[in-house]
Amino acid sequence: MENILELKIKENVRLAPLTTFNIGGKAKFFINIQTNDKLIQAIEWAKQQKVPHYILGGGSNTLFADSGIDGLVIHVNTHGIERSGEWIKVQAGEDLDNLVAFAVAQNLAGIECLSGIPGKVGSAIVQNSGAFGQETYEHIDSVEVLDTMTLEKSILKKTDCEFGYRTSRFKNNPSKIVLSATFKLEDGFAAESENIWETRQRVLATRKERSSYYDSKDPNTISAGCFFKNPVVDKKLIDKLGAIPHWPQENKVKLAAGWLVEQAGFPKGYTYKNVGLSQKHSLIIINRGKGTAQQVLELADMIKKKVLQQFGVQLEEEPVLVGFTQPSLKQ
Ligand SMILES: Cc1cc2nc3c(=O)[nH]c(=O)nc-3n(C[C@H](O)[C@H](O)[C@H](O)COP(=O)(O)OP(=O)(O)OC[C@H]3O[C@@H](n4cnc5c(N)ncnc54)[C@H](O)[C@@H]3O)c2cc1C
Repeated sequence: MENILELKIKENVRLAPLTTFNIGGKAKFFINIQTNDKLIQAIEWAKQQKVPHYILGGGSNTLFADSGIDGLVIHVNTHGIERSGEWIKVQAGEDLDNLVAFAVAQNLAGIECLSGIPGKVGSAIVQNSGAFGQETYEHIDSVEVLDTMTLEKSILKKTDCEFGYRTSRFKNNPSKIVLSATFKLEDGFAAESENIWETRQRVLATRKERSSYYDSKDPNTISAGCFFKNPVVDKKLIDKLGAIPHWPQENKVKLAAGWLVEQAGFPKGYTYKNVGLSQKHSLIIINRGKGTAQQVLELADMIKKKVLQQFGVQLEEEPVLVGFTQPSLKQ
C-alpha cells in the first residue's frame, strides 16, 4: 500500500460541477481515487482527522446542500471490466453504461434495458437503479464490499444485499462501500428477448426523446432523475381513491408518482424560483440555471404536502440528500 502522505487531498472543492443537478457548495476535503488501496487510505485519513467521509460516484442521484460538506468527499473512479464466460466482474467506478455496452457487445443479455442510466456501477448497486422493466440487482451474483470500520473486504452474495425498489443494504450506510460486483448474464443468442443490441438502441433513443438521457445542454436533464419514488401502498387505498394508475407490487400496489404530482397541481414545466419540473416528465425536478438545494427542497416539500393532502400518500425522495442540517430537510 502506498504511503498515506502521498494522498492528494484537495481543499474547498466545488461539488456542483460533479453532479448532474449542478447544485451544491464545496467539499472541505476532496479526493479522486482510482484504486481500492487509495480508497482505504482515504478512509484511514478521514478517521485520523476525525472527519466524516462521503462516497461520490457520478453525482447523478445526489443533492448536496448549498452549504457544502464539512468532511472528505471521496470520488470513486476505479476502472476495469473483465469477462469470464457468462460472468462479468466490474469495478465500482466504471460508468454503468460502459458496462452495459460491454455486455451487449459480448452478446451477454440481462442488463441492456439499463442503457443510458447516468452514473457509476457502485451507485447503481447501492440504489438498485432500474429502467424499462430491468433492475440492477437482477443479474448480480455477488458484491465485493469494504467495511469502513474494520477496513476489511468481503464478498456478499446477492441474497445478502437486501435489494429492494431503489434500495439495498448499502443505501445510506457509510460503513459499507461497494468495491466491485460480479454479474451473471445470459447468452444473448439463447435469451428469449429480441436482439439485445436493438433493445439497447431503442432504449437509448427513447431516453433521448423523453429527456431521460443526461445531456448538460438539455435543460430538462439538469436534475437527479426522478425526484420521488413511485409509492407502494396498501390495496385498500385504491378502493378509496378510485381510478388511479397503479400496478401490482407483491401484495401491495405501486402508484405512478408522476401522475400524483400532476394531479396535485404541478404539471410538466412548472416553475418555482430558479427550479421547476422537466417539460417532459413531472417527476423530474430540474435546476433552471441558478437553482439552489434550498429551492429544490422547498418545491419538493410543496409537492409532498399537496399530494399528501389530496391523496393521503406520502411521497419519498429518490436522490440522496447530503449535508443538510435543518432537521426538516435532512434525509
Ligand atoms: C437524466 C437522468 C436520468 C436518470 N434515469 C434513471 C433511471 O432511468 N433509473 C434510475 O434508477 N435512476 C436514474 N437516474 C438516477 C441516477 O442516474 C441513478 O440512481 C444512478 O445509478 C446513480 O449513479 P451515480 O454514480 O451518479 O450516483 P451518485 O449520485 O454519485 O451516488 C448515489 C448514492 O450512492 C452512494 N455511492 C456511490 N458509489 C458508492 C460505492 N461505491 N459504494 C457505496 N456507496 C456508493 C453515494 O454515496 C450516494 O449515496 C437518472 C438521473 C438523471 C440525471
